[in-house]
Amino acid sequence: MTKYKLEYIWLDGYTPVPNLRGKTQVKSFDAFPTLDQLPLWGFDGSSTMQAEGSSSDCVLKPVAHYPDPARTNGVLVMCEVMMPDGTTPHPSNQRATIVDDEGCWFGFEQEYFFYKNGRPLGFPEQGYPEPQGKYYTGVGYAAVGDIARTIVEEHLDLCLAAGINHEGINAEVAKGQWEFQIFGKGSKKAADEMWMARYLLQRLTEKYCIDIEYHCKPLGDTDWNGSGMHANFSTKFMRENGGKEYFESLMAAFERNLEEHIAVYGPDNHLRLTGKHETAPWNKFSYGVADRGASIRVPHSFVNNGYKGYLEDRRPNSQGDPYQIASRILKTVAEVEES
Ligand code: ADP
Ligand code: MN
Ligand code: MN
Repeated sequence: MTKYKLEYIWLDGYTPVPNLRGKTQVKSFDAFPTLDQLPLWGFDGSSTMQAEGSSSDCVLKPVAHYPDPARTNGVLVMCEVMMPDGTTPHPSNQRATIVDDEGCWFGFEQEYFFYKNGRPLGFPEQGYPEPQGKYYTGVGYAAVGDIARTIVEEHLDLCLAAGINHEGINAEVAKGQWEFQIFGKGSKKAADEMWMARYLLQRLTEKYCIDIEYHCKPLGDTDWNGSGMHANFSTKFMRENGGKEYFESLMAAFERNLEEHIAVYGPDNHLRLTGKHETAPWNKFSYGVADRGASIRVPHSFVNNGYKGYLEDRRPNSQGDPYQIASRILKTVAEVEES
């Protein structure tokens, strides 16, 4: 028997953006445990905006698990929050009710800022560094500073060792801003891995005294880019059949559901989706081939292959909940694929 450190991780009840929470229990197993072997556990919901003090127990239900490369015999356990009966999803538990389809593939591009002492990493104490231009995919101290790349590389290695399907990393347009991409088949798989990657990034940066700023427009109305989480998606039908007619009715469905999409694409998105800085205005749906100023960018390959492949919804922001984003895309797709 080996003692494993099980880190139970969940989303708390804060709105509009939940925080990641985690606590450890040590349990003995003959070998790395299967998901079924991981027991339900409880926590004090009155400290996480998930219960009243008088009846504070909430239940943690393991739904996905990964080896924890930063700990000896560690396991990262993604959990859903349940009511005390253990079977009813807690109102804050979005994952329990989303639409899923393993045939729908998602690629999320998570942008974020490193923050130190309340300012983007690499910003002087007062004023601003050199304007945007050389930071995106930059190399060298002047472009990316001294510590950011060390952290980004360490995070990538942790995620890969945990089995999270990272597809890439790059320095972004603003100083102190970076991106990683995760690809997964199905809403739950892709979104679980995104939340776990966020968890690993936040935990890793503790030792560097650096915070992760996920807000979509942390520098407000300035000439500094905001952060998005572009959602690339393709259904089985889009990959195998597609066609111009299907594509046009899909775009019409996205236009019809503009409000419903924006509602789950992350808070304060009107501050980011202004029509500037490679964005489309939040209240006007548009699409275009290779157009980074459209709501949905249609890759050249999509058109060249006879309207087949994947599309990129550029509107979701860096603080959005990937469970709800993926689910909303699937709901809109279903209006077209089922009719
Ligand atoms: P960008 O030019 O927008 O920065 P990237 O190359 O960073 O684009 O990202 C393209 C994304 O598309 C990747 O995250 C990848 O996972 C995703 N992707 C590629 N093929 C598919 C597909 N068939 N279905 C869904 N997503 C896909
Ligand atoms: Mn980007
Ligand atoms: Mn993109």
